[in-house]
Amino acid sequence: MHEINKATAELREEMAQRSALNPGGTRRIGNFGFIELEETWGDEATIINTARISTTNQRLANGHEFTDRDRALLYQLLRDQHGTPFETVYFRFRFIAPIFVLRQWVKHRVSSWNEFSMRYRKPISVAYVPDVTARTVDGFAVLDEAAIDEYEALMAQLFAWYEKQYSAACSRIDGARECGELAPKEGGRDPYRGRARELLRNVMPVATYSDVYWTVNFRSLMNFFKLRRKQDAQYEIREYADAAFALFAARLPLLAETMQRVLDESAAAGAAAQESSGHA
Ligand SMILES: Cc1cc2nc3c(=O)[nH]c(=O)nc-3n(C[C@H](O)[C@H](O)[C@H](O)COP(=O)(O)OP(=O)(O)OC[C@H]3O[C@@H](n4cnc5c(N)ncnc54)[C@H](O)[C@@H]3O)c2cc1C
Repeated sequence: MHEINKATAELREEMAQRSALNPGGTRRIGNFGFIELEETWGDEATIINTARISTTNQRLANGHEFTDRDRALLYQLLRDQHGTPFETVYFRFRFIAPIFVLRQWVKHRVSSWNEFSMRYRKPISVAYVPDVTARTVDGFAVLDEAAIDEYEALMAQLFAWYEKQYSAACSRIDGARECGELAPKEGGRDPYRGRARELLRNVMPVATYSDVYWTVNFRSLMNFFKLRRKQDAQYEIREYADAAFALFAARLPLLAETMQRVLDESAAAGAAAQESSGHA
């Protein structure tokens, strides 16, 4: 394995710290991946109380002790797609994932993103490496060990090339300052180093890891689970979606259970409709 840069070593340390501080709210994924459910705002009671505004002023009597009526209401609202009560509960995830996974994830537009920037910092100098499960389809290894060795060497070459060119650009900038060709650096960001980072990041592959805060309401999160936990979603985003689901289910079990019931019923109804129309 090639030498990782300082920012990447710090990030690795941070993942270990967060995993120790919040063991039930974090998961490690792949060779450098990570996900944490950092915060949630609202819960099942928020949804039930919100929905009841149209029929009664009675809020849940005992905070989080749900009656059969409460459970039935939650199920019925979700089944019948009463969207807005489910928009009142929010989740903030942090994840470290390869850029190709982020490109799929960011298509879920109804959510807020904040991402690590290679304009301001050097890249995270680790690339995703598919493990045996990721590169095997029905028992057949699509990429063999030799291919993976070459893949890793290629990634290492790109990270080394970035470091070499960035050091060279910094030396040229410093030299030009010393001889008065460039003005001395003032406070704030150095525009010359910044431009070098902007250009050098162009060679970073989509396997490079990035770091994101993702804030999403439950309605949109459910759509994400529905689309990205299905077998036809790519293996890597499915791994993140499954981990996000496990963290969410541990935090809000009644909502997770009700959602899964609705999704399963809807999938079964879809399959039955397809079969009866002869498109199985
Ligand atoms: C298996 C799979 C394969 C895919 N392949 C591709 C691909 O090849 N290329 C590609 O580009 N994408 C692809 N996608 C992404 C897919 O097309 C969606 O962009 C993505 O799943 C986000 O779904 P969404 O639009 O429902 O989510 P969000 O963007 O979060 O939107 C949530 C909901 O809000 C509503 N909404 C949001 N924006 C609008 C709008 N502008 N107008 C009307 N309603 C809106 C819709 O009801 C939508 O379902 C794929 C997704 C999956 C799961």
